[in-house]
Amino acid sequence: MSNSGSRAIVIGGSMGGLFAGILLRKSGWTVEIYERVSAALSGRGAGIVTHAELCAVLEAAGLDPKNDLGVAVQGRKTFDRSGHVIGTYQCPQIVTAWDRVFRMLLEAFPESNYHSGKELLRIEFPGEEVVAHFADGTCAEGEMLVGADGFRSTVRSQILPEVQPSYAGYVAWRGLVDEQALSERARKDLFDCLAFCLPPGEQMLGYPVAGPNNDLRVGHRRYNFVWYRPVSSEQLKDLLTDENGHTHSLSIAPALLRKDVIKDLRDAVRKLLAPQLQEAVNLNPQPLLQPIYDVETRHMAFGRVAILGDAAFIGRPHVAAGVTKAAEDAMALATALESGNDVPKALRIFEQSRMPVNRRIVERGRDLGVYLQPQLSTEEEYRKAEKHSTPASVMAEIAILDFLRG
Ligand SMILES: Cc1cc2nc3c(=O)[nH]c(=O)nc-3n(C[C@H](O)[C@H](O)[C@H](O)COP(=O)(O)OP(=O)(O)OC[C@H]3O[C@@H](n4cnc5c(N)ncnc54)[C@H](O)[C@@H]3O)c2cc1C
Repeated sequence: MSNSGSRAIVIGGSMGGLFAGILLRKSGWTVEIYERVSAALSGRGAGIVTHAELCAVLEAAGLDPKNDLGVAVQGRKTFDRSGHVIGTYQCPQIVTAWDRVFRMLLEAFPESNYHSGKELLRIEFPGEEVVAHFADGTCAEGEMLVGADGFRSTVRSQILPEVQPSYAGYVAWRGLVDEQALSERARKDLFDCLAFCLPPGEQMLGYPVAGPNNDLRVGHRRYNFVWYRPVSSEQLKDLLTDENGHTHSLSIAPALLRKDVIKDLRDAVRKLLAPQLQEAVNLNPQPLLQPIYDVETRHMAFGRVAILGDAAFIGRPHVAAGVTKAAEDAMALATALESGNDVPKALRIFEQSRMPVNRRIVERGRDLGVYLQPQLSTEEEYRKAEKHSTPASVMAEIAILDFLRG
């Protein structure tokens, strides 16, 4: 069956949606992407660690991952509280900014087929067509709909309302700081590696990324930090409560974080982190709070509707696979649709190929993060916490996809 001229509706114009849009167009589909946010998307996730798998999908999408993808780091270091290196690990990788990959994708997709400010409210898929209804009263029709609408997915919640994000018991504080703002010592110690600092039951991780407009020149880059800290569900409610006493569900915009929450964070920085990494957090005026959730779906295909990326599975960030997973989901979708099968059958093939991998990514994230939970309940959790919390294991396991390749 030829896909030529078939219409695909993609909900969500971020990484997963753009990968799907570009790859489906390459195999002959007419693709319209609908993104809820009306302004340009930017800055989400700050830094990302790239993998060979991500580069392979970028190439398949006709993009050149060798063209200034990001900053090359040679290895990893763990710093103790006083700033001394207590362990190293050789591991060349490219680390980059979320914006860098997003821009590459956005530029490769026709502007006229990318519709901003279009919030999906619901879908209907009675027969050979899928209809998407938007908040502005308009609708779109196609032979297939792809839900790439992230962890609060409207598409998923309509089809699988029982699938809900499950809080992992800890949060990440994230942020970026300009290279020039850091001291000479911090620049020298931090810009050639992935740097770790491991206060008891916590994990700080940092790495360099490109500066604004993908500037990779020394002195013009930025430093990206991610600090995981255990936070009980009760404490999380407090962190998600703004100055007006309103408690937000799941996450809170950085500008709404209360002043006393930021002050507590700064106090903890002084007590717990290596001086080089203290600088990174303290120089960031508005850190971002990311509560860590797992999302695991039972299906990625429902007739003519598919879900992918964060809409289907969220693994904890320790695997650093969110963007790669969305890219590979999109690749598998496009490949399955090229097989000559009708759309529902092709989507089942897509689902069968991606469910096992995505489950392993979620499980791996849980294993690597178990020691950051405030409480451990089973012997298995204690065993995993011990295994994955030493400087040697952290450096050898975080943001590495070898477990999928074996
Ligand atoms: C703070 C943070 C840090 C991260 N760091 C990393 C990292 O280091 N490495 C890594 O690989 N990944 C990282 N990720 C994860 C990564 O950003 C995601 O896994 C990746 O962007 C998945 O893309 P997605 O398109 O599936 O979902 P998203 O990027 O969440 O995009 C979903 C899109 O759908 C839109 N949308 C939602 N609902 C609707 C609707 N009803 N109608 C229309 N549009 C809608 C949203 O506005 C959004 O643009 C991070 C994520 C966060 C939040």
